[in-house]
Amino acid sequence: MAHKVTFIPGDGIGPEITNAARRVIDASGVSINWEEVEAGEAIMNKYGTPLPEHVLESIKQNGTALKGPLTTPVGKGFRSINVTLRKELELYANMRPAKSLPGIESRFSDIDLLIVRENTEDLYAGIEHNVGDDAAESIKIITRKASEKICRFAFETAVKQHRKKVTAVHKANIMKLSDGLFLECARKTAEEYPEIEFEEMIVDAMCMKLVQAPENYDVLVLPNLYGDIVSDLCAGLVGGLGVAPGANIGTEAAVFEPVHGSAPKHAGKNKVNPLAVLLSGVLMLKHLEEHSAGEKIMQAVKRVLGNKQAVTYDLGGNVGTSEMADAIIEKMD
Ligand code: NAD
Repeated sequence: MAHKVTFIPGDGIGPEITNAARRVIDASGVSINWEEVEAGEAIMNKYGTPLPEHVLESIKQNGTALKGPLTTPVGKGFRSINVTLRKELELYANMRPAKSLPGIESRFSDIDLLIVRENTEDLYAGIEHNVGDDAAESIKIITRKASEKICRFAFETAVKQHRKKVTAVHKANIMKLSDGLFLECARKTAEEYPEIEFEEMIVDAMCMKLVQAPENYDVLVLPNLYGDIVSDLCAGLVGGLGVAPGANIGTEAAVFEPVHGSAPKHAGKNKVNPLAVLLSGVLMLKHLEEHSAGEKIMQAVKRVLGNKQAVTYDLGGNVGTSEMADAIIEKMD
């Protein structure tokens, strides 16, 4: 039976990379009935909103979406569509694996990290206001409910993926109440999983240790903002944003998207790497229990990365987005 999946091309480089990934996914033989819907900056004039109601309805109905990046204006304009989407659909867990792939040059060669980021609160709640003309205040929200939920998700995923350690990342030495609550929830959850090693790390020390010895870490669980920043750091450890996939998981729906944004300066040039969104698609196939299709794509990706002929600029090659997708399709068994 065909899976019905909502397909959101997105802004900037979104349409090129998502369509390239979709071609590869279709070529794997999996049966997907894509429901394409528009969202983002580009449709503001057409719908009067960057996130029309029917987009949310489509994801709710289908339960699964593959999404390109969406632009958020800096310092002004509408609220982040990504944040709204995650909040509206209660996509409480953001999973961002950072795994070394053969053929991608980086400082480290054997990294296998999983970043589990809380996805609904913290400074991302977007509660802020001016205090007179010369000051502004943003409110950091941390709740027991969301912290317990994300910590349980991290430990459950560690068990499911046969991982050994969960590190809770925080700044509870300074934010004793908010990060203190997050840490308390992590400690309590850890007690229920004695088979998984538990460790705590202050976020600044975590950054230093990750760039020095990333092999010492396994699953990291973090509040929203630290999770966002540390996952880009981890993307850098394995070859950059062009190869960093992500999944937003809720109880009713899951939205798969790359870690990177809409990179407007590269839009329309058939230049950027389609792998981050394709690897997000592979996470989606696993979620849909289409393991052999996911594996087939991974084998083809590894073959293409192995001979370095048909990769995009960020991996040292000189082919375009769609040519890299063609090469992956060609290398499929
Ligand atoms: P970005 O991730 O879009 O791009 C930063 C740089 O990373 C690019 O200039 C490019 O050099 C590199 N890069 C990104 N994707 C690549 C790819 N596939 N292949 C090769 N190189 C790649 O970050 P930004 O410029 O800070 O943000 C642009 C817009 O994207 C902003 O509006 C931001 O809010 C939005 N954004 C959206 C999401 C999302 O939709 N989930 C995530 C992050 C940022």
